[in-house]
Amino acid sequence: MSHIVIIGAGANGLSMAYEMRELARSSDRITVVANDPQFRSVLSPWEEGGAAACGEIEFPLGPRLEKKGIGFTAAGARRVHPDRNQVELGDGASLDYDFLVISAGPKLAFDEVEGLGPAGHTQAVCHVDQAVIASEAWKRFVADPGPIVVGTAQGATCFGPAYQLAFMIESDLRRRGIRDSVEITFVTSEPYIGHLGLGGDTESKALLESAMRAADIECIANASVDRVETGRMYLTEHDARGKPKSDHVLAFKYSILLPACKSIDALAGIEGLVNRCGFILIDEFLRNPKYGNIYAVGVSVAPAQTAQTQAPAEIPKVGYSIESVVTAAANNIRDQMDGKAPSHRPIWNEVSVADLGAAGIGFVELPQTTTPGGNGFSRGNWVHLPRCSSCEGGSGELHQAQEPDRSAGPAHA
Ligand SMILES: Cc1cc2nc3c(=O)[nH]c(=O)nc-3n(C[C@H](O)[C@H](O)[C@H](O)COP(=O)(O)OP(=O)(O)OC[C@H]3O[C@@H](n4cnc5c(N)ncnc54)[C@H](O)[C@@H]3O)c2cc1C
Repeated sequence: MSHIVIIGAGANGLSMAYEMRELARSSDRITVVANDPQFRSVLSPWEEGGAAACGEIEFPLGPRLEKKGIGFTAAGARRVHPDRNQVELGDGASLDYDFLVISAGPKLAFDEVEGLGPAGHTQAVCHVDQAVIASEAWKRFVADPGPIVVGTAQGATCFGPAYQLAFMIESDLRRRGIRDSVEITFVTSEPYIGHLGLGGDTESKALLESAMRAADIECIANASVDRVETGRMYLTEHDARGKPKSDHVLAFKYSILLPACKSIDALAGIEGLVNRCGFILIDEFLRNPKYGNIYAVGVSVAPAQTAQTQAPAEIPKVGYSIESVVTAAANNIRDQMDGKAPSHRPIWNEVSVADLGAAGIGFVELPQTTTPGGNGFSRGNWVHLPRCSSCEGGSGELHQAQEPDRSAGPAHA
């Protein structure tokens, strides 16, 4: 009998638990360690000026997992001890494991920039509680509008949602008839607009630059945020060599910036397990090279950087590859339980959509292909329509930027 412990009950951790239950033997135990008894989605809870109804994206984890024969605790992982195959829990108890899967997502590093985040002077939407606060602040803002700053701080791993937020904000202001009284500035650590942490492909640059221009949104790229005060943000813009090029002081009445992401404290500094940011080092089979019974999936993973950027930007980590990644990890654990070497490699391709308020942009990212131009981008109303229940239809034209190479796409696309 083996005991498989999964840390984190987000999109990846839950998928892992269910898939592992299918693949494990009936005598094997599976335990999910969460730090919250409820499942709470981080997927775009902020919808055009209001948080999505929390009840629709929350449910109690314990009963659902226990129904499938999966153990559950909401005590949280306080520390992982890989040398003794043990997870210390927040309530003082410990769990011994034969296999550990880490899917604990990111720790939001607001503390890296003075004044950043809901405890400081900017809003965030990476957690449903933050989205609720952000939407309350938005209601106050629209009654007394002024300049807006939206985007990402240095070290952010997720750029699509930042663009999406900028365009949602813009479209909401237009809908309310107050767009003319609001200046919007988009700030990003990407080296250029549309880099998205991927680089290499200029199609996204052209598409997003033109969408920003059309929406009259000012952009400052290759920027790091030095500090934020009440109503004031201090930035450094870098040149292509990483030297400070200019300083900016932006006045704002409302700001949402996605912060840098670090790994959770339970893993910080474990030699051979994590990189300098605390993300899990993995091989092609999603297994840690030093601790062969530890796997990682989702945002917890430390993927290879695809391009160097001056203001640190990580490659994007979104949900599309979950199915492939989780299936590979679960199969590799089963391989090991059967005394075999892991043999399942995941496909890392992504399909993302950025809702631009009326039209939108879909991205197909094929980081595994060496073919130039493997990434594809397409713009149109089709992105927005499935996401909203009361659409005005929007005015975006359907523009096929580049037909992606589907032959190299994921098996489950
Ligand atoms: C604003 C925003 C919008 C996004 N929109 C999309 C989108 O539309 N589509 C998309 O694919 N991706 C989107 N993403 C990316 C998204 O974050 C990931 O795709 C997805 O949530 C990653 O899943 P995960 O399981 O790796 O991490 P998470 O979903 O973050 O789950 C990790 C879980 O681990 C828990 N945890 C943390 N520490 C501990 C601990 N010590 N012990 C136990 N549990 C712990 C956390 O509470 C959390 O429940 C968005 C991200 C943001 C910030």
